[in-house]
Amino acid sequence: MGRTVEDDDAMGNPVIGLLGGGQLGRMLCEAANPLGIDIAILDGKDAPAKQAHSTGRHVAGSFKDPAKIRELAARSDYLSVEIEHVETDVLEDIEKNGVDIRLANGSTVTHRPPIHPSWRTIRLIQDKYLQKEHFAASASKIPIAAQLAVESGDAGLASLQHAAKEFGFPFMLKARKGSYDGRGNFKVDSDADFAPALAALGKLPLYAEKWAPFVKELAVMVIRTEDDEGHLRNCVAYPAVETVHEDSVCTKVFMPPRDVAEKVCEDARALACNVISTLWGRGVFAVEMFVLEDGSLVVNEVAPRPHNSGHYTIEAVPYMSQYKAQIYAVLDLPIPETLTPRVPSSIMLNILGGAAPDSHHRLARLARSVYSDSMDVYLHLYGKESKPGRKIGHITLTGLSSIEELEKEARPFIKLVDTIRK
Ligand code: ATP
Ligand code: MG
Ligand code: MG
Repeated sequence: MGRTVEDDDAMGNPVIGLLGGGQLGRMLCEAANPLGIDIAILDGKDAPAKQAHSTGRHVAGSFKDPAKIRELAARSDYLSVEIEHVETDVLEDIEKNGVDIRLANGSTVTHRPPIHPSWRTIRLIQDKYLQKEHFAASASKIPIAAQLAVESGDAGLASLQHAAKEFGFPFMLKARKGSYDGRGNFKVDSDADFAPALAALGKLPLYAEKWAPFVKELAVMVIRTEDDEGHLRNCVAYPAVETVHEDSVCTKVFMPPRDVAEKVCEDARALACNVISTLWGRGVFAVEMFVLEDGSLVVNEVAPRPHNSGHYTIEAVPYMSQYKAQIYAVLDLPIPETLTPRVPSSIMLNILGGAAPDSHHRLARLARSVYSDSMDVYLHLYGKESKPGRKIGHITLTGLSSIEELEKEARPFIKLVDTIRK
């Protein structure tokens, strides 16, 4: 083991223990390194985040393993997550009862690292059906797509028939837990899809969701702060961004959104703050939303952590990227009152693994070779093995004029990203 918690107290150098070490954890480490903040990662040995931060405190293992989570807690001043699919019973136990650590003099003390966001938030968000029931029942009656729980086993078919009667076709059948990149979603177009949908999603607990006939998808990142007694202090929103999903995976993010009225973007920020104020703990959160034809908004889901739609903040809001914000919020350091980008426009393009392991190399070469007076290019590769459809990196482009102008100049990048995916 590296330094002890006592050593760090003496050095004034806080340690954040992070459950999960993928690309979000990696970019969190990249923000933490120049700040002199130590991040202890619980994940596999060569996880992307571990490659980006050297410390004696990393723990090798699963972020779903209670024993490993306790080991991480013993080495950390604070605990946080880069993924919501973690084991929350042990987080609840750590908050209530702490973990025992042995001091150099042989005595044992109980150590209780604060956990942000709260395990309550993580547990609620893990179940997409329950999180939205919670939002709809809140005082501000947050708008969500109508939803119905689906019975497990043979009764599932009757639930789908009931959903079809209530919602009409198409509707969405979704796994309540564990899904990402649309992997737990099945679009049900007619009765003929009932059996294949149930077969595809297998034994997972499911729910049905009314189809949202959206014209755009937006996302808003929010920094939530509260005091150590759990009283909400503030919710500060980044600008609304447009997210483009293809085959249910986010492929592109536009800031500001294209062809969305300013008022709708401001409504989205206010709604996002309402949503996040109903949760518990400090940190950054993403609120995904649908914009309907009439400009009204429907909340799709929340992520209790940095998010794909906030990558652009690394270059566009450099004084407080979503990763720096996560660190500042967890440690309760001062957060700006407003989060204004330093550039008028930005586009983020996800690099998804192509058919061959080197399909993305042409794109990386392009990103390494373009210089312009009106567009800057930032390549981020995550140190992950390429597999078809896997998020292995992203490119952020920042522009000095409008999003329309930037989109024109970004065309070669957009074309290449689309080619690799197909
Ligand atoms: P992630 O966590 O990676 O964002 P996920 O697996 O939790 O994704 P969702 O966010 O539920 O999946 O859905 C993925 C995409 O599918 C949405 O961004 C949207 O494009 C589409 N979608 C989801 N629900 C609906 C709906 N009710 N009506 C229409 N489209 C939907
Ligand atoms: Mg999700
Ligand atoms: Mg989503």
